[in-house]
Amino acid sequence: MQLSGKTAIVTGSNSGIGLGVAEALAAAGASVVINSFTDRDEDHALAARLADEHGVPVRYIAADMSDGDDCRQLVAKAGRCDILVNNAGIQHVAAIEEFPVDKWNAILAINLSSAFHTTAAALPMMRAAGWGRVVNIASAHGLTASPYKSAYVAAKHGVVGLTKVTALETARDPITCNAICPGYVLTPLVESQIPDQMKKHGMDRETVIREVMLDRQPSGQFATVEQIGGTTVFLCSDAAEQITGTTISVDGGWTAL
Ligand code: NAD
Repeated sequence: MQLSGKTAIVTGSNSGIGLGVAEALAAAGASVVINSFTDRDEDHALAARLADEHGVPVRYIAADMSDGDDCRQLVAKAGRCDILVNNAGIQHVAAIEEFPVDKWNAILAINLSSAFHTTAAALPMMRAAGWGRVVNIASAHGLTASPYKSAYVAAKHGVVGLTKVTALETARDPITCNAICPGYVLTPLVESQIPDQMKKHGMDRETVIREVMLDRQPSGQFATVEQIGGTTVFLCSDAAEQITGTTISVDGGWTAL
């Protein structure tokens, strides 16, 4: 239980990668705050289930990561933040000329600006505690690009830049900040893209997965939420104390191409 005594906040963690990261941190002994904007009974039940399974305190705090004040309030309500995982994210696919401005603004707010706000609120707590870890969930799209994903690619490149600046501003503190860049992970976000891709390419589900998605991943396999969770726990471990301001790709070789 290497993270016992630490409190972790994971934004956007009632499904997909965020949930996998929250589970991995809880399994490593951390107290965890899970978050989404939905505030349903099932969100609170999810926190209770994780607490029960891992024997650590787990709370659900509702906050809308598209709203800067809500982001800062999330950290304030948690009361303590040793580990901050900026994970909340959304996606939209359209050509630049047709990209809806409201979608552009929402993607930049949720995928990028939220990390600025939560980090600003969490760093004073980490400095006061004398230890801190910021882990930003970026993407292979933070290092490379794809057509029709302008807002997502811009936001994720921004997350990688914010990661480096945060690392430099905390370099003399016992605080690190790194980004994980996953390739494709079969989460609800990716599942939601499959029907459009099937229509666009005139392919069945399996062919879209094989020829459109995993074609970019030399391993030919999806990464898993457990692997992203394990990488997060590693970045919080003593072995990673001198790792800061970098990106770790969990992408089956995508960015090596
Ligand atoms: P997901 O849709 O399963 O999860 C997204 C999470 O964000 C959910 O918990 C949702 O409730 C939350 N969320 C959305 N809008 C929010 C808001 N306004 N306020 C608070 N929470 C909000 O998606 P995922 O695939 O698990 O993605 C998680 C992160 O991983 C995102 O940042 C995404 O860009 C990144 N990522 C995913 C993949 C992939 O292949 N799945 C690859 C690279 C990076």
